[in-house]
Amino acid sequence: MTAFVVIVILVCIGGFIGMLISGNNINENNAAVEKAMADSLKKSYPNMSDEDALIKAKKLRRESSERLREIQSDISLNGKVMPNVICAHCHTSGQVRMKNVTRVTKSRVNSIPGKVIGLGTNSESNVKEMHCENCNMTWDVA
Ligand SMILES: [Zn+2]
Repeated sequence: MTAFVVIVILVCIGGFIGMLISGNNINENNAAVEKAMADSLKKSYPNMSDEDALIKAKKLRRESSERLREIQSDISLNGKVMPNVICAHCHTSGQVRMKNVTRVTKSRVNSIPGKVIGLGTNSESNVKEMHCENCNMTWDVA
C-alpha cells in the first residue's frame, strides 16, 4: 500500500466518522477519531513514533473536517456538481452545479382599483438553477 492510498483512506474514515458524530462531546469525539487514526498510521508505519502519529492524525482529522464543511456549504449554496453538464457560457464540463429552486412571479391586476388594493396573483414555478464554478455564471433551466 502506498503512502498516498493510506492517507486517502484515513481522510475518508475521518470524514465519515466526523459526519456520524454530533452533539456536545465533539472535542472528546475528535480526540477518539485522532487516536484511531494515529493507531492505523502506526500499523502502516511501524517506525513512526506515537507522538508523530498523533500529530499527523490531528492534522488529517482537521483537514478532512474542514474539507467536509466546505463541500457541505458549497452544496447548500449552489447545489451538487453535475459531472456531465457542460457550461453554456464557458463550455467547461464537471464544474456546473444544479439545485432545484422555486421562483415566485408576482402579477398585479391591471386596473387602478386593483393596483390600489394590491390585487394580484403570485405564480410559482419550479426551475433548476445552474451555477458554473469556472466562469461564475448562474442561470435557470425550466
Ligand atoms: Zn462556465
